[in-house]
Amino acid sequence: MTAQRIAIVTGAARGIGAGVAERLAKDNVAVAVIDLDEAACKPVVERIEAAGGRAIAIGADVADETAVENAVERVVEELGAPTVLVNNAGIIRDNLLFKMTVSDWDAVMGVHLRGAFLLSRACQKHMVDAGFGRIINLSSTSALGNRGQANYSAAKAGVQGFTKTLALELGRFGITANAIAPGFIETEMTHATAERMGLDFEEFKAYGVKDIPVGRVGLPADIAAAVAFFASEEAGFVSGQVLYVAGGPKA
Ligand code: NAP
Repeated sequence: MTAQRIAIVTGAARGIGAGVAERLAKDNVAVAVIDLDEAACKPVVERIEAAGGRAIAIGADVADETAVENAVERVVEELGAPTVLVNNAGIIRDNLLFKMTVSDWDAVMGVHLRGAFLLSRACQKHMVDAGFGRIINLSSTSALGNRGQANYSAAKAGVQGFTKTLALELGRFGITANAIAPGFIETEMTHATAERMGLDFEEFKAYGVKDIPVGRVGLPADIAAAVAFFASEEAGFVSGQVLYVAGGPKA
């Protein structure tokens, strides 16, 4: 049997990240649950431990270089060298272009792009040493363009280019890099979007479902299943890909 892999999942205190962390743990991966607030990560860690898995909680801002370096060092010390990285932390700061502030632009770029860059850079040496690595970055269907999301769509399209470049640079070390582009997934992020639009969530969901061929919105478990595939040993020949997980064709 191969030794237990160690994964880092960012933005894992809730939503898709929590779903991914719990799924990886179920697949016998030890997980560092990273989010802004360490205390907020604890319930996820407790659920993983209660199910017989191994996990630790770490508070870190993925856009902060020192915090990221320290977080990865803690993972190495407390769990072992991370060879699976899921760059999932995300924020939205939606507004039409003419109302979008520079700080809303910078905040979104900071978490999605700078964050994915800092974590990938900090983890790659451990993956190179192991001759094995899986980097999975969360993009979005918004990468194809979405009204009110000039910052977010640019960041999520950027994530795709970043992913393909990692695949090119790191492939020869046994490291794959892939992106998942979710459609409508029911989390606090989509609840916040409904609120901003002044819609009741069920109303917002019904409106969204009309354009989803499978006739339902997605759940964190739908994304976690795709992550589990990309993170697996057997996905070693799949790299530089963008998988739209959106209940229908998006690209
Ligand atoms: P969510 O429920 O808002 O969760 C995001 C998590 O990321 C939160 O726990 C948040 O912490 C954390 N986070 C934010 N900024 C951070 C930072 N600087 N450092 C560390 N953690 C940070 O979002 P979600 O819906 O699960 O989304 C997860 C990912 O999927 C994001 O990248 C998102 O863009 C992408 N995505 C989501 C959807 C969707 O429909 N939900 C669709 C496409 C793509 P706080 O609570 O402290 O802010």
